[in-house]
Amino acid sequence: MNKETKNNVTYMTFDLFKNAGVKHGFSTRLGGVSDGVFDSLNLGFNRGDSDENVHENFKRIATALDMNYERMCLSKQTHTTNVIIVDEKDAGNGIIRPLPYDDVDGMITNVKDMPLVTFYADCVPLYFYDPVKEVIAMAHSGWRGTVGKIGKVTINKMQEAFGCNPKDILCGIAPSICKNCYEVSKDVADAFLETFGDAHKDEILHPSVFNPNDADKYMLDLWAACRIVFLEAGIPEVHIEITDYCTRCNPKLFYSHRIMGVNRGSLAGFISL
Ligand SMILES: [Zn+2]
Repeated sequence: MNKETKNNVTYMTFDLFKNAGVKHGFSTRLGGVSDGVFDSLNLGFNRGDSDENVHENFKRIATALDMNYERMCLSKQTHTTNVIIVDEKDAGNGIIRPLPYDDVDGMITNVKDMPLVTFYADCVPLYFYDPVKEVIAMAHSGWRGTVGKIGKVTINKMQEAFGCNPKDILCGIAPSICKNCYEVSKDVADAFLETFGDAHKDEILHPSVFNPNDADKYMLDLWAACRIVFLEAGIPEVHIEITDYCTRCNPKLFYSHRIMGVNRGSLAGFISL
C-alpha cells in the first residue's frame, strides 16, 4: 500500500484501486484535531471524543480524499455478516442524520458521489470495486466476519443485485492486525479449521510465539483467510491487493484495539464513485 499525505492528513491507498481511478483511502491517526487517547484523527462517534472533533476529522479526511463529506454513508458494525445495498436516500447516514439501521457490517452501492465508510482498529477492512458495472462495496471482516466469509457474501450480493462478474471485481485488504500479532484461543482456531478445512490449516494458523508451551493458543492470519475467501468467490489472484501494514505493529500510525483496548479512536475505510 501507499502512504500518502495531503493537507497534513495521512492516509493509505491501494495501487490496484488507484490505477483503476476510483477514489478510496484508509485513514491513519495523523492529521486530526482530537487529543489524548484519540490523538488525532479519530473517526469514531460515541467513543468519548466530542462530536465536534469527530465531524472536523471527517471533514479533513474528506478533503484529503476529495470526497463529499455531507453525502457519506456510515455503517453500524456489530460483527455480523449483514451486507446491505445502499442508495440515494442513504447519502448522509450517520453524518447529517442518525443511522436508519442496526447491524450492518457491509455496504454496496452504485450511487455516485456517496462515499461508503466503515470502521476499524485491528479488524480487517475489505474494499471492492467493479469498474465494469461501476459498483463499490466495503465490508468489516473481524474473526467472526471472516469465519462467516463476509467477503464472499458481499461479492455474491454484488452479482445478484448488479450483475457483477467476480472476474471484473478488484479486492483490497487494508491495514489490520497481522499474523505475527493476532493470537487467538483454541475455540477461534477450531472455528477457522471447521470453516476453511485442513487444506488451508498451515496458511491461516501457526503455533503461538507468545505462548509456545500453551497448546490452546494459535496465531491467526486473517489476511490469508480473507484472500482464500476472495479466491473461493471467483476473484482472480491478480485482482487482490493485501496491505503490508499491521495496525498493532504501528501504534503511532494506527489505533489498535489489542494495544489500546476501548480507550482509543477509530480508523475508517472510504471508497466513492
Ligand atoms: Zn503486527
